[in-house]
Amino acid sequence: MTETLNPFAIAQAQLDHVAAHMKLDPGLHSLLREPRRELHVSLPVRMDDGTVRVFKGFRVQHNDARGPCKGGIRFHPSETIDAVRALAAWMTWKTALLDLPFGGGKGGVICDPSLMSPSELERLSRAYINEVWRIIGPERDIPAPDIFTNPQVMSWMMDEYSKHVGYPVPGVVTGKPLSVGGSVGREDATARGGVVVVREASRQLGLDPAQSRVAIQGFGNVGGFAAMLSKDILGSDIVAVSDVYGGIYSAQGLDPHAVMRHRQKTGSVTGFPGAEPITNEAILELDVDVLWPAALESVITGANAGRVKAKIVAEAANGPTTPEADRILFEKGVFVVPDLLCNAGGVTVSHFEWVQNVTGLKWDDAQVHRELERKMLAAFHETVATARAQKVDNRTAAYVVAVGRVAEAMRVRGWLQSYMCLAPEAKE
Ligand code: NAD
Repeated sequence: MTETLNPFAIAQAQLDHVAAHMKLDPGLHSLLREPRRELHVSLPVRMDDGTVRVFKGFRVQHNDARGPCKGGIRFHPSETIDAVRALAAWMTWKTALLDLPFGGGKGGVICDPSLMSPSELERLSRAYINEVWRIIGPERDIPAPDIFTNPQVMSWMMDEYSKHVGYPVPGVVTGKPLSVGGSVGREDATARGGVVVVREASRQLGLDPAQSRVAIQGFGNVGGFAAMLSKDILGSDIVAVSDVYGGIYSAQGLDPHAVMRHRQKTGSVTGFPGAEPITNEAILELDVDVLWPAALESVITGANAGRVKAKIVAEAANGPTTPEADRILFEKGVFVVPDLLCNAGGVTVSHFEWVQNVTGLKWDDAQVHRELERKMLAAFHETVATARAQKVDNRTAAYVVAVGRVAEAMRVRGWLQSYMCLAPEAKE
């Protein structure tokens, strides 16, 4: 039987596995398997050459039992509704694991931003909000940046939403520029949170991060900062990084700040002086201590997991490891820091941004970093303690904590009970 790489099927399989382990109520389990709501939109955009192109977009709200939905918006040519559904579900588990007062949502537009001008991107961003504004808002659903979206896109989206409701609403999106209600510390938050948990995972394994060799697939927002902070905070050696165009390797270690300057100048890490080329497949199998998949989902599969040599896999990307690969890595004793935990720093600082927007207060760097570390450490130790106590892998443990919190919120809100109460009336 060939392994499914459909992210939503994977997300459902992960939940099914945990539901069986936790003996979750079958009604709750069925409800959690599907998004509560999804909106499919067609976005007409006038291109710079005067023609109109219609782009497909989605917003999926998986669960809001614990608070408003929260999750990024991706602009990607190979975006699919099933990827967005999976990512929305993963946001439900991530916000629950970090104990943030949010549920899970996600959005996407099928487009190739690398082929679009800034003004075309602005019109696309505004067209998206024009279609989804009724179902989002600071108390409903709060989007954020993700692959190929950025603070400028968030700023256009916040502006468009504010025009619709008639007053400025900075809390409708997070990841905004500082001048319109963004938070300090948001830009590198996902990587910084990941570095905190990699440091803790290294302690668990008796590894000295200052002696660690690190490879990173995907030198984008998360991967780029992960490289620089791993070097600057932990003192690790970054031996390989990659992007969509290919990768670079140096046994002596790369200077991630110089690689960043090279990428900013040339648009890619490839061609960095003094480094050897390496493929995106080979980077996953390098003999390193820490491997960060920080690009796309389903890159570590049943086909290559047996060749992964890293001691720690830090899942900066969402869903980079398939269930079959998970089993193989667990049996090999690889310490997987699951995506729910590893990349939760972004949504955690997004929560701080939203808190600042709705209270009107401003936090400084020190407060953001201190609170981020506190939240990441609490979630890490809860995950590891659950894995030990229940003799399960870290992903299952993270799910046990997260699903337990969401299920409890649904139970006390009486969601299943109210459906049962409605049934007799429905017969009339
Ligand atoms: P980004 O667009 O800044 O960077 C993505 C990187 O991946 C780029 O270097 C790109 O060239 C590379 N890439 C794209 N397609 C690739 C391919 N086929 N093979 C190899 N490399 C490829 O995006 P990002 O914000 O850094 O997000 C990366 C991952 O982290 C995604 O899975 C995203 O969902 C996840 N994530 C991001 C955040 C955040 O705060 N940005 C938070 C949580 C999770």
